[in-house]
Amino acid sequence: MAGGARGVDVRGRGEEPLTTLTTLGSSLESIRAKVEANERLDFEDGLALLESSDLLALGELADLARRNRGGTDEVYFVQNLYLNQTNVCRVKCKFCAFAVTQKQAAAYTHSPAELVEDALRQRELTGFTEIHMVGGESPHVDFDYYVDIVRSLKQAMPDVHLKCFTASEIHHMTVLSGLSHERVLTELREAGLGSLPGGGAEVFAERVRRLVAPGKEHSEIWLETHRTAHALGIPTHCTMLYGHVENDEERVDHLLRLRALQDETSGFLAFIPLAFHPENTVFEQRGWRHTTGADDLKLIAVSRLLLDNVANIKAYWIMMGMPLAQIALHFGANDVQGTVVREQIFHAAGAQTETEQKVGELARFVRAAGRIPVQRDTLYREVRRW
Ligand code: SF4
Repeated sequence: MAGGARGVDVRGRGEEPLTTLTTLGSSLESIRAKVEANERLDFEDGLALLESSDLLALGELADLARRNRGGTDEVYFVQNLYLNQTNVCRVKCKFCAFAVTQKQAAAYTHSPAELVEDALRQRELTGFTEIHMVGGESPHVDFDYYVDIVRSLKQAMPDVHLKCFTASEIHHMTVLSGLSHERVLTELREAGLGSLPGGGAEVFAERVRRLVAPGKEHSEIWLETHRTAHALGIPTHCTMLYGHVENDEERVDHLLRLRALQDETSGFLAFIPLAFHPENTVFEQRGWRHTTGADDLKLIAVSRLLLDNVANIKAYWIMMGMPLAQIALHFGANDVQGTVVREQIFHAAGAQTETEQKVGELARFVRAAGRIPVQRDTLYREVRRW
């Protein structure tokens, strides 16, 4: 997968050595020339970027790419409420500290009425414009349960955008109902669904999926679900869960597969790199550690550089903490996700950040990083600026 040609001597027979493909193809200098000319980077460039230890050069290149493609000093965030409809899940991903079985004491499955009541109560406290809802893939509910949730929330809060259910959950609904992905998405859209979050992508490479999420659907199903959503006019988000068993080739492959789909559909609103948190997972017992700040910044920069057709790259502060997210704004990120009200999935896996970041505090962090805070709605329309 590594392209087979890295470092290969390309001299002809009987000739003096000319150079190698590595030096020809993908040094930071040659990548810089491409970025300055607004040329697309390729697989080898992506690998060279990930293998570089010149972190500041990567940040500067990514920021240059962002500006060359029309990026400004504006940094976006959204006010959103996180809901989880159930933590019961049949899949058992090895990196997951959130899921339980129906028999465990901590199991819950909220009814549509409970979710509405909770959301209305939270709305009195914070003026969120978006509900981000994901959950486990419970075999103990049916498709109508999901449609009822969306319809009930929309009826109770017609002005709130509903960003609900990963592609994996959509696929789960097709299994529960026997309906096609298109039909499931159409019914959810008619009930009030606005967009899909980007979870469930993990890392597309089969080797990685077999190791960390053997019960999850094939990566092509994730991509096809997003393709179908885009064709129906439902925008979506995309992610990569990195920092476990994947290698650099698999990271680049993942990003390029997302880029290829975006070329086809232009349906992704944003890309969010998600660092793996090992706490309370089987990997913690094996002594696994968090990604480092350098890894996180590198992933932001490389995502910006390779995903030349995705307008927004998020530094997910819930995961990386606000201080590192500030630096990420100089590594290609232009979004810090939001003032999240309650986040459980990353916190079950040990994320230490405050789960509710007040608007003013978030704006202060963004300004201190030399950028202009802009509160947005889910579709990146401006709500307020500082
Ligand atoms: S990551 Fe999602 S699909 Fe996997 S076990 Fe956890 S809740 Fe289930």
